[in-house]
Amino acid sequence: MKGLVDYHTHTPLCGHAEGSPDDFIRAAVRAGLSEIGFSDHAPLPTGLREGITMLPEQVEEYLALVGSARERHTGSIVVKTAMEVDFPFHDSFDRRYLADDRIDYLIGSCHFIDGWGFDNPDHLDEFDHRNIDTVYADYFAIVSGLIAAGVFNIIGHFDLVKKFGHRSRADQSGMVRRLAGECAARGIAVEINTSGLRKPAGEMYPSASILSILFDEGVPLTLGSDAHNPDEVAYEFALAAEAAKKAGYRSISGFSKKKRYDIPL
Ligand SMILES: [Zn+2]
Ligand SMILES: [Zn+2]
Repeated sequence: MKGLVDYHTHTPLCGHAEGSPDDFIRAAVRAGLSEIGFSDHAPLPTGLREGITMLPEQVEEYLALVGSARERHTGSIVVKTAMEVDFPFHDSFDRRYLADDRIDYLIGSCHFIDGWGFDNPDHLDEFDHRNIDTVYADYFAIVSGLIAAGVFNIIGHFDLVKKFGHRSRADQSGMVRRLAGECAARGIAVEINTSGLRKPAGEMYPSASILSILFDEGVPLTLGSDAHNPDEVAYEFALAAEAAKKAGYRSISGFSKKKRYDIPL
């Protein structure tokens, strides 16, 4: 774990996480990380956000919370400020934050297909009413738009659509290779998100086969646990580092004020 970064963590402002930023930071120090980044969910609209994201008027509180935690731990670990932003964008998110230089990096994530929260266990039934290949195609079409938006530094949980174990019948490798080429051309990183190991999918996002396509296409890589409590910080990072190396990676990426840099693996 020495020297790695955990770039995907949440704070209680999202309504479904536990522990203070200080607790997360102490857990990161204990795990031997060189950096921890907070990437709480940008505000979703009323009706979607309850228990999932902060309110629009809490974004400043969030930025201040992370900023003050960073000051308290200066010298022991680098603390980055980030946000996980849904794509397509919602009006509840003030897009001025996309260019806010207090934010070190933006994770772009797709959690909704036409308003269906496909990663929400409460809406799992909808998988029974849809063709799974269409669901995958719709999901990756949104990810393609997310990459093309040109404002994100990291793609969150690249193949989240597999979360509950629904696998596409069609071969997705052509689509994945095209998306990987788009990421590489724009210098957008993909995270290994270890939270999939805690879910029915039972594997990291992305899968080993996608990871190897990403490496072939020259896509930068970073790491995130998607921790919603301090015990999940750096969750299974030894496995993540092993998977990255197996795919061919010898370094991961960090971001400071949206600028990418290499960190040896
Ligand atoms: Zn997410
Ligand atoms: Zn997340």
